[in-house]
Amino acid sequence: MTDSIRESLVGRNTEEIREAAVEAGLPAYRGSQVAEWLYRKLQPEMGGGFGADFATMTDLPQSVRQLFGEKFDLPTLALTRAQTDPHDGTIKALATLIDGGHPIECVLLPDDKRVSVCLSTQAGCPMGCTFCATGTQGLTRNLSTGEIVAQYLLLQSLTTRRISHIVLMGMGEPLLNYDAVLKAIRILNVECGIAMRHITLSTVGIVPNIDKLAEENLQLTLAVSLHAPNDTLRTRLVPVNKTYPLSRLMNSCRNYARHTGRRLTFEYVLLKGVNDEPEHARELALLIRGMGAAVNVIPYNPTTVAEAFGRPDQGRIVAFRQVLEHAGIVVTQRKERGRQIAAACGQLVTEAARSRPMARDLPMVTAEAV
Ligand code: SAH
Ligand code: SF4
Repeated sequence: MTDSIRESLVGRNTEEIREAAVEAGLPAYRGSQVAEWLYRKLQPEMGGGFGADFATMTDLPQSVRQLFGEKFDLPTLALTRAQTDPHDGTIKALATLIDGGHPIECVLLPDDKRVSVCLSTQAGCPMGCTFCATGTQGLTRNLSTGEIVAQYLLLQSLTTRRISHIVLMGMGEPLLNYDAVLKAIRILNVECGIAMRHITLSTVGIVPNIDKLAEENLQLTLAVSLHAPNDTLRTRLVPVNKTYPLSRLMNSCRNYARHTGRRLTFEYVLLKGVNDEPEHARELALLIRGMGAAVNVIPYNPTTVAEAFGRPDQGRIVAFRQVLEHAGIVVTQRKERGRQIAAACGQLVTEAARSRPMARDLPMVTAEAV
């Protein structure tokens, strides 16, 4: 890590920023004021949040701002570009990590009731799921707590509505970056005021870390990416299933639900002719029976780089859902958002990396223009 990342204050909690103030020879309450600017004065017109500059922290004396400015950095990310889907208001932001220019992406998904954001936890991902564009990139590196929190601050600066929900479903596998992700979750909850129940962590199924997360006893929502109801098929789609087969994964999921009292969600990407038969749905219903868990079906979003799969038609999706529903399982279907701007997992970065224009007919927007 470079100094600029290490010295950033974004990603530290109020107590740590107070300590930083004391180390700089200032009273601790000056640190509380900085934390206030970073995490709670979120609208751009307030001068806080993403892009905050010590110069804008107008309730701090000039000498204090200068001292902070000499010792610490604020941003950990630079916004490269943001695109808005004109149909549904989805904003997809591409940002680069300040230390090496690695691209990452995050998405804002507003609807009538809530404003959700989808954040990345790694640059790339080492898991290599065959249908996933991020999986084809391999892992560049883990994101720091500051880089995860900065995505939230960045997206909040692009809207006048308050973000209410967070999903860790962007690039990367959150449970392979456990400490940084957990600290980011705590900052988003305690410092930024996002209810723990409104935070969803999606994992491909890193069994030891699901067990570790259970011990934290947080009220967040755990989503587990299943995609197949038996080991043969799952290993083909999700290679880490070789290390953590379904028997171990389901044990951990049941333990997690018991320990935390929270209902799990199982994600299931529907791939035409591969895992979308009614028989697969029956097998899935048996696998998760008695857990009170919900299934989130996700029609496959074609990518240009991952192994080519087909997207099932609506009739097949409905038939699959019905088998689960008849077995008493709550089924949700991921809303199609931002399709015009390639808002599927890993796609924006991949497209940009190939220097191809993203949705050509869409206007590019910047933070100032939104
Ligand atoms: N690594 C974590 C979280 C990021 S992926 C995980 O795998 O759970 C978030 C979700 O997007 C996962 O359920 C993943 O399977 C899904 N996804 C990845 N590529 C997709 C695609 N091309 N179409 C639809 N869903 C996809
Ligand atoms: Fe990684 Fe999740 Fe994509 Fe699998 S689906 S490669 S775990 S980001």
